[in-house]
Amino acid sequence: MIAPGEHFEESERLKDLHSYAILDSLPESDYDNLTAIASQICGTPISLVSLIDDKRQWFKSHHGLSVSETPKEYAFCAHAINDQNNIMIVEDARKDKRFQDNPLVLEDPHVIFYVGVPLISEDGFPLGTLCVIDNQPKVLTQSQIVSLSALASQVMSLLSLRKNRMLLTQSLLELENKHKELEQFAYIASHDLQEPLNTITSYIDFLEESPEYSLQEVVKQSFRYMRSASTRMKELVTGLLEYNRLGKSSNAKKVDCNRLVSDIVKNLDSQMTSTNAKIEVAPLPTIKAFEMELELLFENLIQNAIKFKKPDVPPEVVITAEKKDTKWKFVVKDNGIGIAPKYKEKIFLIFQRLHRKDEYPGTGIGLAFCRKIVEIHNGAIWVDAEVDLGSAFQFTIDENIKSDDKT
Ligand code: ADP
Repeated sequence: MIAPGEHFEESERLKDLHSYAILDSLPESDYDNLTAIASQICGTPISLVSLIDDKRQWFKSHHGLSVSETPKEYAFCAHAINDQNNIMIVEDARKDKRFQDNPLVLEDPHVIFYVGVPLISEDGFPLGTLCVIDNQPKVLTQSQIVSLSALASQVMSLLSLRKNRMLLTQSLLELENKHKELEQFAYIASHDLQEPLNTITSYIDFLEESPEYSLQEVVKQSFRYMRSASTRMKELVTGLLEYNRLGKSSNAKKVDCNRLVSDIVKNLDSQMTSTNAKIEVAPLPTIKAFEMELELLFENLIQNAIKFKKPDVPPEVVITAEKKDTKWKFVVKDNGIGIAPKYKEKIFLIFQRLHRKDEYPGTGIGLAFCRKIVEIHNGAIWVDAEVDLGSAFQFTIDENIKSDDKT
């Protein structure tokens, strides 16, 4: 018997094999089906998906054989992978000096006939073989060999699929962790900024009331700027904190959107009166949602629809809803200043605004809130708009959102 030599790039080959995390995994019918077909096509009692590890050959699938691994020194497949560009055919192992006195030939399972097709990884390393075995001498036809090679490609496709799925899961996990880290950072930063900000505001109050400063116009003006800057910073910090809290505190429940929108419209009464706004609301559905967040979503969109009005043109807002498959699509349409197409994505990013504060007040947080809220509801948000032709904000809410529905 001649023990198999090592592959010429053995350590890289082993590294590649281990990157599939396949060794010692549970049996899978996909592989078992392929070995069953290989046996059937080649007319052999045994077929294996054999992977060559450091000291053993381990079988991902072993059709017609009860053991799940054997020592590498006896493995026919360990010879086969050393000539990775060819199929290894042993018609009668008893006449082959490499295998004559091999225990696997002399004893159970009496390997006499062997054909092994190397399984070549995406990186070009032979991981093992798909092989067929018989207890008597045999010859395969050319078409049997071609079919066996095709099945070996299928085995390799399964292995690649497994590896890619693993990598994808790993990337998703990393992404999720990064996202959590970022959320945590934003929360801590905004939470911790509140206290020094409050201190600054109190000192402004204190100094503003001090008689030695209150008489000087230039100082009074500086105080006004400082107060306005600190108020704005407070708005931003509070907004950031609220952004992080979205969707964390409540459970989804049935929400009647007609009632929700009509309450919002009532609360916007003074804004509506001062701008002469009209709001038309089509019949809206009752949906499962996070109520507080849904209210904030509608409120932001309706408020914007009134706020970004054309000068001297009273705002007209139309709210509609329609069902598409498992999602409800809502539209909040206005006749306002519209949005240039190149800004359609940018406006949904936090703190992004298209106007100066003295033109239109705001913090640039509202639409970022809206986007986060629809994402919590497995939906999406986008806008159809042109400059001067109004905007139609559209969003979807999935009826199958995940939550502990307590209603
Ligand atoms: P804010 O309203 O505080 O500025 P938002 O995040 O709600 O912040 O909106 C971001 C930007 O998107 C706004 O500054 C505005 O330029 C644009 N925008 C939002 N809604 C409308 C709308 N209905 N019509 C025109 N522009 C809009």
